[in-house]
Amino acid sequence: MQTAGCRTVIEGLLTYLKDPNRDPTVLDAIVHHVSTCPRCERKMEQFLRALAMDEEDLLTCQACQALLPEYLQAETRGQAEEARWHPVAVHLETCPHCSAEYVALLEMLDLAYGEGEREPPHYPEPKLPFLQAELTKEPPESGRAWYQDALGRLIIEFSAELLRALRTSAYQPAHAAGLKSNRAPNILWQFSLKEAVEDMEVTVTAEADRGDSAFCTLAVEVNIPSKGGWPYLAGTTVALKRGKTVLGVRQTDAFGLVLFERVLKDDLAHLALEITPRS
Ligand SMILES: [Zn+2]
Ligand SMILES: [Zn+2]
Repeated sequence: MQTAGCRTVIEGLLTYLKDPNRDPTVLDAIVHHVSTCPRCERKMEQFLRALAMDEEDLLTCQACQALLPEYLQAETRGQAEEARWHPVAVHLETCPHCSAEYVALLEMLDLAYGEGEREPPHYPEPKLPFLQAELTKEPPESGRAWYQDALGRLIIEFSAELLRALRTSAYQPAHAAGLKSNRAPNILWQFSLKEAVEDMEVTVTAEADRGDSAFCTLAVEVNIPSKGGWPYLAGTTVALKRGKTVLGVRQTDAFGLVLFERVLKDDLAHLALEITPRS
């Protein structure tokens, strides 16, 4: 929820932008609030993503939402790459309202037509079935966690075995050192791939939704060491899929982060992430 503090910050920022000379100390208050408020922190990420995009968002929220049902159909048919859908993709990339609407629609569609897709999906045999160092303690059946396809895309599959292994392996507090303390208690599990794929480091964190225990947020951080770390990490494409169905496609922001919100926890074992670095 937006708090009174959030609103004060927004008003302060608007006043500052109109007249920066009047009260420069307002900036300190803004920075302090944004760095401690998870809600504003996420909004800020969205804002930075919008700034980082060199394309103009041409759609209003109303226009975007009117197109969403058709856009979803195009996605299921694999036609969402067509030029006519580009403005919708651009808008969804930056607009929290419409991307929430998009996820809600997806869930509705799923309830209406998804029964057939609920059967256990068939996972292709990985081409490189070996474990990354951090998971070597786990039983061999979790070895199918990830592979790279012929196009250099990294695919991470969250099988029931992998999730069980991630949840049961005692959560390492040292792991959480880099995370904000206000986020750490909500972490369900964390999966990281380091030094396993050339020039790519991936960390996936599942955070419980505070409001609704059926859902979680997947935060995917992709570091491309050769790009020099943040803030040069924008543009990696991350798709969340269930079987062949694309649930969402996002591009990393300057910090290499994408978020998939309102992901059904019960669905996690059927999901896969497909990560395509910017070429
Ligand atoms: Zn706030
Ligand atoms: Zn919108």
